[in-house]
Amino acid sequence: MRVIQIAGQEIRLGEFKEIKINIAKLPSQTLIDTPLYVSRGIEDGPVLALMAGMHGDEINGLEIVRRILDGGLHQPKRGTLVCMPIINVYGFLNFSRDVPDGKDVNRSFPGSKNGSLASRVAYHVMRDVIPFIDYGIDFHTGGAMRANYPQVRAVLKDQLNSELANAFHAPFTLDAPFRPNSLRKEASKKGKKVIVYEGGESLRFDQTAIEEGIAGTLRLMHHLNMIDWAPDPKEENRIIWSSTWVRAKHAGLFHSNVQCGQLINKGEWVGTITDPFGLFKEKVVAPEKAYVIGLNNIPVVNAGDALMHLGMDNLCKLETPSQPD
Ligand SMILES: [Zn+2]
Repeated sequence: MRVIQIAGQEIRLGEFKEIKINIAKLPSQTLIDTPLYVSRGIEDGPVLALMAGMHGDEINGLEIVRRILDGGLHQPKRGTLVCMPIINVYGFLNFSRDVPDGKDVNRSFPGSKNGSLASRVAYHVMRDVIPFIDYGIDFHTGGAMRANYPQVRAVLKDQLNSELANAFHAPFTLDAPFRPNSLRKEASKKGKKVIVYEGGESLRFDQTAIEEGIAGTLRLMHHLNMIDWAPDPKEENRIIWSSTWVRAKHAGLFHSNVQCGQLINKGEWVGTITDPFGLFKEKVVAPEKAYVIGLNNIPVVNAGDALMHLGMDNLCKLETPSQPD
């Protein structure tokens, strides 16, 4: 195809275009546009979208896309790269995950033209981006003060999703079912393959997560034959088939003994909860042999708060016999 159309604009082979999509209007009547940067190679090929900032405070994804643009890595030889650095402009301006009505855009897909704010943002992504792409990466980070070690999330029983996740080759790949009303799920209903990349925590740059995100994107582009070179992975890609949370048994101050990404053994002393006065100390021990794929960084915790997210690959499962129900 010599000419393709994205969001009503024609893009020819070898062309680069900035397309502004009007997402909303502020109460001040200011129009809110968000840009799409579309680069087409000199030969035809697949269309891949890099979508970041769905949760406005998750800055690492935005930085991954920014560095790809800044470094000139957005120009494929074959096919088309669509870069969308900030989906949720409201959240970005307000340092917030959500839009001002408190709703989560990633639980509002496929969205509607006249719905709530979150649902309108979702509607624009579904109307202006998704119909024109073949593949997508949706960039996220952990929530407030919770860091995720770089990881891809995809439905691994789907052959093509599994292939994309393998090509990305993040340190961890989680077999993750579709979440209701998420971009990943609604895009898949339209036959588009979207994987999620998670790295670091909200409102913080995490250099490892940013670098892994860029390298993984390039490996995925190389796999899709869009570019001729991509960096080799620095770490093994561990496939996480199941995961569990370690939660605080008591309220207090949490002191971690472990680092994100680390392998821990069943029964290992992984942290301590204390009161603020030196009156009690409680050991936190690992329930399984597992990798720490997410870690809470906030010291003050309530009973039931998530302290760490543990992921098990086949090797961990073999070495931790499952308990009878
Ligand atoms: Zn997110």
